[in-house]
Amino acid sequence: MTDPIAVLGCGPAGMATALALHTVGHEVRIYERYPEARPAGIILNLWPPPIRALEEMGVDTVDLGAPCHTTFRNAYTGHVRAETHLPDDVIARYQGGFIGMLRPVLYERMLGAMPDGIIQVNRTVTGIRDHGDGVQLTFADGSTVQTPVLIGADGIDSVVRTHLWGASPKREHRLQVIGGYTTEMPESAERNEAVIAHTRRVQGSYSAIRDHGRDGYQWWVLEAWDPEKPAPTDLHAHASELARDFGAALTDLIAATKHENTQRWAIRDRKPLTRWSRGRVTLAGDAAHATSPYAAYGAGMAIGDGYTLAKLLKHVDLASTPAVEEALLEYDRRRIPHTTSQVQQAYILGKAFHHIPRPLRPLRDFMLDRTDMLQKQVGDRSPQEIVDQLQEMGAETLANA
Ligand SMILES: Cc1cc2nc3c(=O)[nH]c(=O)nc-3n(C[C@H](O)[C@H](O)[C@H](O)COP(=O)(O)OP(=O)(O)OC[C@H]3O[C@@H](n4cnc5c(N)ncnc54)[C@H](O)[C@@H]3O)c2cc1C
Repeated sequence: MTDPIAVLGCGPAGMATALALHTVGHEVRIYERYPEARPAGIILNLWPPPIRALEEMGVDTVDLGAPCHTTFRNAYTGHVRAETHLPDDVIARYQGGFIGMLRPVLYERMLGAMPDGIIQVNRTVTGIRDHGDGVQLTFADGSTVQTPVLIGADGIDSVVRTHLWGASPKREHRLQVIGGYTTEMPESAERNEAVIAHTRRVQGSYSAIRDHGRDGYQWWVLEAWDPEKPAPTDLHAHASELARDFGAALTDLIAATKHENTQRWAIRDRKPLTRWSRGRVTLAGDAAHATSPYAAYGAGMAIGDGYTLAKLLKHVDLASTPAVEEALLEYDRRRIPHTTSQVQQAYILGKAFHHIPRPLRPLRDFMLDRTDMLQKQVGDRSPQEIVDQLQEMGAETLANA
């Protein structure tokens, strides 16, 4: 019997990886630095591939979120610049397609599916040594464990990524997002919609959610922001001010949101890697592909990483170094092109909507309103990638692969 596979970090990537590995029959442990798995943030949407992956990992996805039809609009005129069209069978099969939810609810569901004994908390990894036949982890208290495979799911500041590929600077997007949620239901907000709207310099959006059986909405406003500048002191007031040009729905939703349900994030990512895995060590989630929320897919991709990794490791003899290495390299081949394209698209969209010089903004908006540029890029391409991802997951489930 081999030592358990080690997963570093108990975010969406770590939980998905552990659940998927457990489902395919491997022993696994998650090592988390904090006293509990705690969600960094509140707002979230998931596409069908992660929903399917969660189902196969044994996560209860019934009523996890609200189905949303998604449009991209000109905030001033309401003109629909792009609309996502998922195939009807995908919408019918995956609870409506694009699902709006709260991050703590996703955590509850994933933790609810986690067998006892997998998660170890207050375990900060400080040392990693791949000695060929296995990997030794050293913790802050000086204790050590041996593992046949280490998966770094330890977020954007991953120590595993630095161990494998060296330190790299974070890429500042010079953007900030303020978001929140409410279970009040103002008449002005459209039901079962994700409305993503832009003025010349601000994105203001909302989407339907479910919160423990109740309907509600999450919302967010996004603007250019100098990372050297302190955060606005009153987030709620700042968000209301930004929402002025977006019509009644966004204003009403922000007004209905409790201050403690409002948060801010500075947006940054890292330049995509061309390789994740080396020897018996690999990466998943933001550790591998930190992504701007413009993709609305960071957590979704994190769940997809864990799913793919478990399928590839299912029949692998973990004592065999060449077999482990080959499975991890195949994981790189399957995941890196897709995640890199999402990371780069999200980065470019942030630039196009918020960092274009002022004189060019009318031209940009003319193009967005009068051509099918945005429809092709996000309305058609993203749903096609979703369908491609579902196809790549194949007919075999984690359990019967
Ligand atoms: C405003 C905002 C909106 C977003 N919206 C969406 C969306 O709509 N859809 C979507 O799919 N994604 C979205 N994302 C992206 C998504 O939140 C992230 O991609 C996702 O949380 C990444 O999960 P992760 O598990 O890789 O990393 P994390 O969630 O960062 O988890 C990493 C874990 O590792 C632990 N850890 C770190 N270092 C160590 C160590 N040395 N030892 C032990 N443990 C360690 C941490 O404590 C943490 O628990 C959004 C992000 C933001 C900021």
